[in-house]
Amino acid sequence: MDKKENYIVEMLFPERQIQKKIFEIASKISMDYKDKDLVIIAVLNGSFIFCADLVRNLDVRCAIDFIRVSSYIGIESLGSVKIISDFKEELAGKDVLIVEDIVDTGITLDFLINEISLKRPKSIKTCVFLDKKCAHKNEVQVDYSCFEMGDDFVVGYGLDCNGFFRQLPYVGRIKGFHK
Ligand code: 5GP
Repeated sequence: MDKKENYIVEMLFPERQIQKKIFEIASKISMDYKDKDLVIIAVLNGSFIFCADLVRNLDVRCAIDFIRVSSYIGIESLGSVKIISDFKEELAGKDVLIVEDIVDTGITLDFLINEISLKRPKSIKTCVFLDKKCAHKNEVQVDYSCFEMGDDFVVGYGLDCNGFFRQLPYVGRIKGFHK
């Protein structure tokens, strides 16, 4: 690929549309988790902006913790997931909501659900910002999702390409660039 300065990012989901959708999803989560013992596990790095906006729109008590995993180098999935830094929160008997930036093959989310279920939570649900439904390899448990999209590689709103573009307030596709 070229130097990042030469990339043109084509907007897919503008900031206003993202914020409106997050408000809707957060309202639904607040209703569903009323009187529950909610623990949010945000998956780093990509979900840091999504999770920050989501939790600030929630109207329920929740604990928030983070897990850092790695499954991609550049735009290539490694096909296996590595935990780089684990969460600390006690999950037994709690209602866990995994917050993920994007589901592609679903391998990462599946891996996380399996890992977290070993901690014996009362329930596990997932909330994803973007869902590439057509790219799922197996059945993936997606309980809340903001947007469905095609099989493009996207950046912005927390999502990167080799560490860049995370700070964009919108989601876009790198123009002229296909997987
Ligand atoms: P999966 O395991 O579902 O194939 O991939 C999930 C992870 O791959 C996401 O958490 C994200 O880090 C990365 N990923 C998948 N698709 C994209 C994409 O279009 N853009 C970016 N920046 N990361 C992606």
